[in-house]
Amino acid sequence: MTFLKGIAASNGIAIAKAYRLVEPDLSFEKNSVEDVKLEVERFRKAMEVSKSELEAIRDKAQVDLGSDKAAIFEAHLLVLGDPELNAPIEDKIQSDKVNAELALKETADMFVMMFEQMDNEYMKERAADIRDVTKRVLAHLLGVQLVNPSMIAEEVIIVAEDLTPSDTAQLNRNFVKGFTTNIGGRTSHSAIMARSMEIPAVVGTKTATEEINNGDLVIVDGLKGEVHINPTPELVEQYRKIHEEYEAQKAEWAKLVNEPTISADGHHAELAANIGTPNDLKGVIENGGEGVGLYRTEFLYMGRDQLPTEEEQFESYKAVLEGMAGKPVVVRTLDIGGDKELPYLDLPKEMNPFLGFRAIRLCLEEQDLFRTQLRALLRASSYGNLKIMFPMIATLDEFRSAKAILEEEKAKLISEGQTVAEKIELGIMVEIPSTAILADQFAKEVDFFSIGTNDLIQYTMAADRMNQRVSYLYQPYSPSILRLVKMVIDAAHAEGKWTGMCGEMAGDETAIPVLLGLGLDEFSMSATSILKARSLIRNLKKSDMERLAQEVLNMQTTDQVIEAVNNAIK
Ligand code: PEP
Ligand code: MG
Repeated sequence: MTFLKGIAASNGIAIAKAYRLVEPDLSFEKNSVEDVKLEVERFRKAMEVSKSELEAIRDKAQVDLGSDKAAIFEAHLLVLGDPELNAPIEDKIQSDKVNAELALKETADMFVMMFEQMDNEYMKERAADIRDVTKRVLAHLLGVQLVNPSMIAEEVIIVAEDLTPSDTAQLNRNFVKGFTTNIGGRTSHSAIMARSMEIPAVVGTKTATEEINNGDLVIVDGLKGEVHINPTPELVEQYRKIHEEYEAQKAEWAKLVNEPTISADGHHAELAANIGTPNDLKGVIENGGEGVGLYRTEFLYMGRDQLPTEEEQFESYKAVLEGMAGKPVVVRTLDIGGDKELPYLDLPKEMNPFLGFRAIRLCLEEQDLFRTQLRALLRASSYGNLKIMFPMIATLDEFRSAKAILEEEKAKLISEGQTVAEKIELGIMVEIPSTAILADQFAKEVDFFSIGTNDLIQYTMAADRMNQRVSYLYQPYSPSILRLVKMVIDAAHAEGKWTGMCGEMAGDETAIPVLLGLGLDEFSMSATSILKARSLIRNLKKSDMERLAQEVLNMQTTDQVIEAVNNAIK
């Protein structure tokens, strides 16, 4: 039995066999072959197996994911059956007397280069198809297994170096019971998505992919951040009990689904949910969300190979607004960059993507993309209670420019005879220290703030949120962070505006009492954290928490704050 310690990224216990989502090693040596006939046979055999594998993947994709995704594999099958590619490979084996791996790779590379140089999008895509097919045939020649996450058909725990948000979005909730990764932190987007999908996860284990083999029995303890590999039957039994207790606790919280979030001394706090797609609405409603405090629209742009059209976006925003039936929905405009990439935008690689050309910076420059999103939002605005916010605002000028573009699009739509809601609140994310410090000035111009602590903490502490070696600096209870939060809330209130928080801190049990005391108006979190937070707030008195907040703001360290909170809520 082996044990790994990581970061608890998503609550719950999962016990299942491991499925390694790790690219195999496809390197090989150049060999000369004596029996060319046998080598050609070996090549044909690898092609045959690849063909039946691709057919199976295509058929499954057709059922599970629809014709769009299945078409990708259809294209791969066409490449595989193309004599223009196969014949030169066989010729090369015969004439140069080289191994099939080499003949395949060199011939395919030549075609890839040729297609990539063409000034034609269609041919460029064919180059990508050839690359994929070559990888598959090469894997069969080398006797290694490629990863096929779409073919998972039994309960598994995914083991990976890292999972991108789009990998995470494609995980099939019915089979993927949990996941563990080498890198990542509590606020990396794969962790955030795992929480919204209610998949237990432990990230930042450093060595999961080295220690875990395909088929090992694995326990992912997303409550403590532990992973057990090939545990003893006794440990499995213990964990089954912990799992049952956790489920029973969840059933208790579930009784609060239709109850208001009112503190023991009568103060109402709004508990909203963070969502990534309209599909997440079900979870918001089941967990008694009083609104959507953050709709991360960038997920609409992921897992595809071109930008979503205005119409597609309009339909998604409308679905969310209608689904929330008049409750507030805060939609954040595109926040791409950092750990959220859009390969089809072909943006240059940056040394420090979290400090780079992301979010509003990109939108102000790539205005077509931004205007399309704003138009879709404005058109959807009459279907519910829409509020718009801009991410990563660092200066008032950025806010004013973004607002001016929004106003222009609004005027255009109205002149085209489209209906736009009369009042749409316009706010900003406060996730850069400069904005928190200047909150009193921003508060004069915005309708609301939403504090994005995932970024605010990484920028204040200068600690990359994806890097587990500095994850100890993710300190939401540090007096430095709490003081910034207080500045923002007070600045908004002085101008009669409201402040929400949509970073992970808003759903954190130790932070909630202090945030209540600081006067935070709206707490927006993973839907699955709402009922637990509601149960906590209903047992607290706001007046007591105000005193607690005063006290902890003057403390020196995070540990002192944690101790004070624990004493106060005992
Ligand atoms: C944040 O930074 O706190 C936030 C909510 O935005 P994201 O996690 O998407 O960067
Ligand atoms: Mg952010």
